[in-house]
Amino acid sequence: MKVNIEQFQKQYANESDCIPLVFRMKWPTGYHCPRCACAAFYIINTRRLPLYECRKCGHQTSLTAGSIMDKSRTPLHKWLLVMYIVSACKTSINAVHLAKLIAVTYKTAWSMLNKVRRTITDLDHTILLSGHIEAKPDIYTRRIFHSTETLQREQSVIVGRTKSSTGPSYYKIKLAPTQLDPRKPLSQAAEDEFRDTHIDPAATHIDIIRKPIIPWGSHPQLRQFAPAAFQWMNDTFHGISASMAQSYMDEYCFRINTKHLTPSQSFELLLGHSLTPNLAKDLAYSNSLLKWAM
Ligand SMILES: [Zn+2]
Repeated sequence: MKVNIEQFQKQYANESDCIPLVFRMKWPTGYHCPRCACAAFYIINTRRLPLYECRKCGHQTSLTAGSIMDKSRTPLHKWLLVMYIVSACKTSINAVHLAKLIAVTYKTAWSMLNKVRRTITDLDHTILLSGHIEAKPDIYTRRIFHSTETLQREQSVIVGRTKSSTGPSYYKIKLAPTQLDPRKPLSQAAEDEFRDTHIDPAATHIDIIRKPIIPWGSHPQLRQFAPAAFQWMNDTFHGISASMAQSYMDEYCFRINTKHLTPSQSFELLLGHSLTPNLAKDLAYSNSLLKWAM
């Protein structure tokens, strides 16, 4: 499916183009008051974006209330474009390029990308690996120029995936902060942490390999996945701080995990999740789009 940024920019050129889509994503079953659940409302059109006032209790809410766009002065159509680029384009974008593309400051572009990535991380936390799972430790090395720094810049990660013979696999790469030496076999603490946070307790089969370096030919998908992710990270975001590494890993996995969706499905998945007032609690919409084969 072709991704066309110019066409997207034409389709969502101003706020009035975006409002119907965001309304539908925020309230897929129709407006309901967040305080009393009443479905009847008045529209107040005195601001850039409309306010929706409940006819029963008078509570006012907006399309972006509680979302990553809440209180942002950046127009909705710029936010939508960022989410479209991150979710639908093959290559990512860094803050320098984004700032130019949508005519905002570098600081604003960086903050927008950061919030969109937090949405991706949060979405990933709502999806547990289930069914038949395989996982292994790997070593993330940030791009460095002096070999003596190598060890200091290595971090232990765990890469895991659902093994499916009928549909796409779902992948995760997570930093393993309790694993002190990335070159040693996976510690029990790091393994437990990964299991507790990312694996469905009802999983049918869990195969965790403990060594970071495994022979050629064994677990090929798992073996190749993390190095490809790290290459992409280093190529896209020259120089990555430790605190950002997890977001980039999550973004890479999101791109791979949504490959079987169309660009607009991936975009709507991200937009829908970004609007959830309490991101972690509302799974209904993401589950309706993401039917991971188990
Ligand atoms: Zn109400």
